[in-house]
Amino acid sequence: MICPLCKKPMIILEDDNIEIDYCTSCEGIWLDANELELLFADETAYNKVIAAGEVLEKSSERKRRCPGCRKKMIKIQVGGEQQITYDACPQGEGIWLDKGELDGILKFGLPEREGMEIQRFLGTMFQSPDSKVSDESPERSDP
Ligand SMILES: [Zn+2]
Ligand SMILES: [Zn+2]
Repeated sequence: MICPLCKKPMIILEDDNIEIDYCTSCEGIWLDANELELLFADETAYNKVIAAGEVLEKSSERKRRCPGCRKKMIKIQVGGEQQITYDACPQGEGIWLDKGELDGILKFGLPEREGMEIQRFLGTMFQSPDSKVSDESPERSDP
């Protein structure tokens, strides 16, 4: 699949039963409909994030094309105090999340749900030596 922003091929991150397309250059993620169901296995979370999204008719964000069918994606807004806007295929093939949007969506859709499939999955996929321990007070090492 081609990244809708960079127009470069995305890589596939895979686990036992989940595969997600990931762009290494803009760090965006494409989740197709099946993956969404697997990741948001909890029905409440799925409804909150996916089904309850409001379609934004007007948005300052640029329209992007679905990496699957190439049709222009629609903008969906979800969230409480903090609104998140993501792109969705008009035919329901999947959703596109810019860097950081996944985190926002997870916090909104799955608060206090540590240990869920998606957390575990993303934990393994995106762990990097630097970003992993953001909650801990960083150890400063002065040169
Ligand atoms: Zn990209
Ligand atoms: Zn599509």
